[in-house]
Amino acid sequence: SKKRGRNAFEAFAPAMQADSNLRMTVEEGLRTALAQEELVLHFQPKVALADGRLLGVEALLRWNRPGHGLVAPSDFIGLAEDSGLILPIGEWVLRQACADAVRISTRLGYAVPMAVNMSPRQFRQPGLLHRVEEALETAGLAPALLELEITESVLIDDTEVAAALLQALHRKGVRLTIDDFGTGYSSLSYLHRFPVTTLKIDQSFIADLPSNPYSEAIVASVIGLARSLKLHVVAEGVETAEQHQRLCAHQCEGGQGYLFSHPLSLEALCQMLEQRQSV
Ligand code: C2E
Ligand code: CA
Ligand code: CA
Ligand code: CA
Repeated sequence: SKKRGRNAFEAFAPAMQADSNLRMTVEEGLRTALAQEELVLHFQPKVALADGRLLGVEALLRWNRPGHGLVAPSDFIGLAEDSGLILPIGEWVLRQACADAVRISTRLGYAVPMAVNMSPRQFRQPGLLHRVEEALETAGLAPALLELEITESVLIDDTEVAAALLQALHRKGVRLTIDDFGTGYSSLSYLHRFPVTTLKIDQSFIADLPSNPYSEAIVASVIGLARSLKLHVVAEGVETAEQHQRLCAHQCEGGQGYLFSHPLSLEALCQMLEQRQSV
């Protein structure tokens, strides 16, 4: 009835208002987070599954929000995307990650490749090539030590712009990883149109190992695809010895996940890697 409908609306409206107030508060906080130096990067190792060798690290953003502790990106990246704040935040991440890659490599005495997540919106921003070049130069990082992680959506929309940009980055030596591979699109035709270096198998497939034969079949075929296209392949979200063992059986090259290490602060990462070296 009309009456019930109106009551339902009235019951719904305050919740919507609260939600939008919350979003505004978070957005307000996020806006100042950059200036207040509340953003931090944590780093998670990627390892060679066969021998545990370090392949590189992935920079993962955290927000040290006053009164809230360390906030995970799932709680603010969407909002940063919607508000456009992802552009200055992404720029900060890029510059910080390049600088930290140099710090980590210098401290450990060997080169540690650094992977940076790029949001689709950031990727479509004009002048990205120049921003990447500048971040590399300012930090003094070799382009081959920088890897950009993008999702398939970037390669599906706006193909021409993406192709030109990726070719230019590739010529510079920057590496390109397809993140969350397998979750996005059924078409694989973009793989030969873009200079992709690595496929990263989405953690949802790894979480299902070994109980779900469909997931295992998908994992095996992505590994096979990478092998025949001569791409690197990394499984994300490896948590158990059994998952590790299944991935080794399928000859997956790399892995990342809590089994090897949680994302760590720069200091904790360096300490962990220094200790590993000495054993
Ligand atoms: P992602 O790029 O797919 O990163 C993997 C996520 O899985 C990370 O969550 C990581 O901490 C988590 N993870 C790692 N190992 C395991 C494991 O063994 N099990 C499980 N269950 N999870 C694991 P995090 O750090 O919360 O980041 C979530 C997402 O936020 C990232 O997903 C990425 O899409 C986005 N993100 C993080 N940092 C940035 C950034 O600097 N820029 C942009 N645009 N996005 C970012
Ligand atoms: Ca990633
Ligand atoms: Ca992922
Ligand atoms: Ca993801």
